[in-house]
Amino acid sequence: MKTRKFILPEHRMPSAWYNIVADMPRKPLPPLHPATRQPLTHADLSVLFAEELAAQELSTERYIEIPDQVQALYRIWRPAPLVRAIELEKALDTPARIYFKNESVSPAGSHKPNTAVPQAYYNHRQGIRRLATETGAGQWGTSIAFAARHFGMEVQVFMVKVSYEQKPYRRLMMSTWGADCVASPSRLTAAGRTALDRDPGCSGSLGLAISEAVETAMRRPEDTRYCLGSVLNHVLLHQTIIGEEALMQMEMADDEPDVVIGCFGGGSNFAGIGFPFLRRNFREGKRIRVVAVEPASCPKLTRGAFQYDFGDTAGLTPLLPMYTLGHEFQPADIHSGGLRYHGAGSIVSQLLRDGHIEAQSVAQTEALGAGVLFARTEGIIPAPESTHAIAAAVREALRAREEGRPRTILFNLSGHGMIDLYAYQQYLAGALKDHAPTDREIARTVGRLERIL
Ligand SMILES: *Cc1c(COP(=O)(O)O)cnc(C)c1O
Repeated sequence: MKTRKFILPEHRMPSAWYNIVADMPRKPLPPLHPATRQPLTHADLSVLFAEELAAQELSTERYIEIPDQVQALYRIWRPAPLVRAIELEKALDTPARIYFKNESVSPAGSHKPNTAVPQAYYNHRQGIRRLATETGAGQWGTSIAFAARHFGMEVQVFMVKVSYEQKPYRRLMMSTWGADCVASPSRLTAAGRTALDRDPGCSGSLGLAISEAVETAMRRPEDTRYCLGSVLNHVLLHQTIIGEEALMQMEMADDEPDVVIGCFGGGSNFAGIGFPFLRRNFREGKRIRVVAVEPASCPKLTRGAFQYDFGDTAGLTPLLPMYTLGHEFQPADIHSGGLRYHGAGSIVSQLLRDGHIEAQSVAQTEALGAGVLFARTEGIIPAPESTHAIAAAVREALRAREEGRPRTILFNLSGHGMIDLYAYQQYLAGALKDHAPTDREIARTVGRLERIL
């Protein structure tokens, strides 16, 4: 009988994160201070983030030790299983072998606690008592609420309004863990009030919610710091535990991926599954394809420009070198809230620019169709975000069938969709529409960017 699950014992959980910057042939360009346009220093970053996180953001060390207290909390759900998707293979009648890393087993139901726990830990260790952050679909808000509770910290979450209304259950998870969650735009901040005065019906965006959270943290430097669930180097770093485990588990399976796939919002779960495999390309001369999958409605990797841009709508964050649709880009209200972000992290952007990774886009009906197929074969109802990775894996498996050539596919199941059933209701009712911005829409927001490069 074929083995379905590859389970690492707790004592084999990796004890270091992997910093891909150490191995990149061309390093990412530096983040710039929004006012001076000079490269950011550790001191600049420490105003917003915990000292240790600021250091990790700029680090070029190949490995960074995972603190014992973080490892202990990781063990609530880690190591996460690697699963051979045997039933999906059968349904696709493919010669490909398909594996997925199941990150839906965390308390919050996604990969995000992998970085929420160390972020809360490093802030707490420095005496910070309150965290301010934003959340799209609510996955990050729930993850930081869970992690901060463990260290007795307060959390103020700004949740993108469209999700706040569509996803009351994530709000309730945050409340259960004791965080304070408001809809963004809110009247608590100047950025929120400006947006509401301009358009009272504004459904919000991740970029705008970031502006509100950054402003909240900057107003109380004595006890509050900002934290972010994606995009930044230190966030991608923490997620590499996913791929480090998967490397060992693929070895247990006596197999090796030809292609590694992750869905793409700001890049963290993609980096998590992909970077340890890219290390094999850089250091061992392997040629593993690593593929990022974004929604067709928010196509920064496949249709955006490589430019310095802000992480938020109001232009308060550092300027990052990234593939971007422009920080004023308003993506359509698709169900994958976690993928509605205008830009990509700077490491991932540099890797794409240099041809080390690939990017694809998938429309939401194709994605959710793949999600339903996955649910009906493997049983797990995936997060709408994760269905983008599944759709790309299905494309690969069908290509293997057409070509009559086996291959090994690994994708990251970044989360489950038990709190996103509304998306499935819409899909099953045939009510979902696909959205893609026109070239003119993209050119308008990209065209407004200041040309720094
Ligand atoms: C947040 C989220 C994503 C997208 O964020 P990345 O930083 O690109 O990983 C993908 N899947 C799930 C389940 C999420 O919660």
